[in-house]
Amino acid sequence: MKALVYHGRKKVSVDNVPDAKIEKLTDVVIKLTTANICGSDLHMYEGRTDVAKGKILGHENLGEVVEVGKAVDTVKKGDKVVLPFNIGCGFCANCERGLTGYCLTCADPSVMPGMAGAAYGFAGMGPYAGGQAQYLRVPYADFNCLHLPEDADEKEKDYVMLSDIFPTGWHSTRLADLKPGESILIYGAGPVGLMAALSARIQGASQIFVVDGQADRLALAKQIGATPIDTKDGEIGDQIRELTGGLGADCGAECIGYQCTNNAGKEVPNLVMNSLVDAVKATGTLGVVGVFIPKDPGAKDALAKIGQIAFDFGKFWFKGQKMGTGQCNVKAYNRRLRDLIHHGKANPSLIISHELPLSEAPGAYEHFDNRDAGWTKVILHPHAA
Ligand SMILES: [Zn+2]
Ligand SMILES: [Zn+2]
Repeated sequence: MKALVYHGRKKVSVDNVPDAKIEKLTDVVIKLTTANICGSDLHMYEGRTDVAKGKILGHENLGEVVEVGKAVDTVKKGDKVVLPFNIGCGFCANCERGLTGYCLTCADPSVMPGMAGAAYGFAGMGPYAGGQAQYLRVPYADFNCLHLPEDADEKEKDYVMLSDIFPTGWHSTRLADLKPGESILIYGAGPVGLMAALSARIQGASQIFVVDGQADRLALAKQIGATPIDTKDGEIGDQIRELTGGLGADCGAECIGYQCTNNAGKEVPNLVMNSLVDAVKATGTLGVVGVFIPKDPGAKDALAKIGQIAFDFGKFWFKGQKMGTGQCNVKAYNRRLRDLIHHGKANPSLIISHELPLSEAPGAYEHFDNRDAGWTKVILHPHAA
């Protein structure tokens, strides 16, 4: 089969690799019909993780079941399914509590002591191949496959966003403890930030502020119903206090991660976290879903190399704020978000900028990585010519 393979910093190619196959009786194999490129793939692409060469990337996957392991009950050949980017077993202590991003069964404990969580095609998240490929092995298929309704083909571009960014955007608002009628400050108008804005709108936020420095992305935020806040228009805290009676936003969502940059394009890993502490009101909660990693050998900053940032903890403490962090437990939300799409209440595909065959993935990585204007979200069709 063909698959997008990582060969080192900024080197990916579409190679012929052995077909994905059933390895355990609880697996299925799917034929990918849509697979996305994600901002977090860029951390690996840029050599800013310790992902191994030869890894097939891709964790946002949707397709048709073509092979079914003997111990699988509820998934049949021909079913159209979307997969959470995290791989859960469904029966460990964390999966049992809905914390499927922190599965203990599927995790790779050699990454660090106490490691939990697994994902397709991802650094530090187990040996699983990714789905920017023609076929994908899905472990614990009964648990991980979310069935799609009869409009699966028609709304495929919306449903594929259930693999990661729509639930992840939603998760940021839940970690931030957003309540109907409250205001929320969302940092980042990339795909996840835009999905956070959509989620906040659905949950009845009174004001949704989306911060970014890129005009095309801010325009999308506005289209979703948020107030765009341009980093070039001055201190974020000042801008937000002016719009919230001097108090700051009720809560905040971090949707950028450790590779955030200032207006001059310089990476400043603590920029967003400290700005959120400043711009969110005293007693407000921060939801942090942007990726931060324990080790970043490619970092220029000495702290960042060992996964640290200079965080305004004193201000955070003094304001009595709270914080929730980490990757999204996709299974906790994806069924309900699927139903919002099915019934016409959510249209996450609005952020898609490019729809390409797999063969064009290497070029798409380059554009996306250069943050070229207009490259918001790329979806791939691995069987298209
Ligand atoms: Zn993703
Ligand atoms: Zn588990």
